[in-house]
Amino acid sequence: MSVTELRLSAYLKALKLPTVARQYKAIAQDAEATGQSYVDFLAAVFEQEILKREQSGIHFRILQARFPLPKTLDTFDFTAIPSLNKAKVMALTHCEWIARHENVILCGNSGTGKTHLGIALGYMACQAGKRVRFCTAASLVNEITAAQQEGSLHRVERQWRRWDLVILDELGYIPFSPTGSQLLFQFCSERYERGSLLITTNLEFARWTEVFGDEKLTTALLDRLTHRAHIFPMNGESYRFRESLRRQQG
Ligand code: ADP
Ligand code: MG
Repeated sequence: MSVTELRLSAYLKALKLPTVARQYKAIAQDAEATGQSYVDFLAAVFEQEILKREQSGIHFRILQARFPLPKTLDTFDFTAIPSLNKAKVMALTHCEWIARHENVILCGNSGTGKTHLGIALGYMACQAGKRVRFCTAASLVNEITAAQQEGSLHRVERQWRRWDLVILDELGYIPFSPTGSQLLFQFCSERYERGSLLITTNLEFARWTEVFGDEKLTTALLDRLTHRAHIFPMNGESYRFRESLRRQQG
């Protein structure tokens, strides 16, 4: 390594530009070979650093989101669920709904791809630079109930506030205790018009009292949740069931 290269390597380390350090030589050779200007060369070098940082950011946000499975829109077959409005779903992929603090509710029977679609929209959000967190409704209720008992509810609520999008999966399978209902109601009210929620549920709205217990609380909750929401009915044949039938027949 020449003295200049050693100096440059130290500068890039001090400036924390590892991608530039790794790639400047190859980019310089290319610039020379193709007769690029110094400015073009500089732009090409920094472009690599920016691209790498964007990729790492996406990777980091996907890890933080704690998705249970890697599910994306490329592997979602819209023809399997004709009741789902594909154009409306695709309109959500640009993530403006998250900037507007709107909600998404995916509602339908088991196996129709609600969790798959929820994760896929979460992935899109991570790619668009949004902070996303996935969890089941039951585990969130457990977490905030425990926090309340330990006197750390405010701290835990503050932690949850940092997510641009919270994906609450499987609302409806397990009924909540009165305290759990109250706390989840508080959680959703707190996010109202401040952040987005994506909820997947097997229960139509008329049956939400079955999980929340209290009718007044359920009405107030639905009022807030559905006020600025994109609601997708996803009823249909179970994809899982159909796949297993196909396997048995095949
Ligand atoms: P739900 O949450 O509605 O019960 P899931 O999203 O868990 O259903 O779907 C069950 C399984 O079937 C998953 O492996 C999912 O990837 C797959 N699946 C469901 N619907 C589709 C679809 N339309 N295209 C591709 N895979 C699907
Ligand atoms: Mg599911």
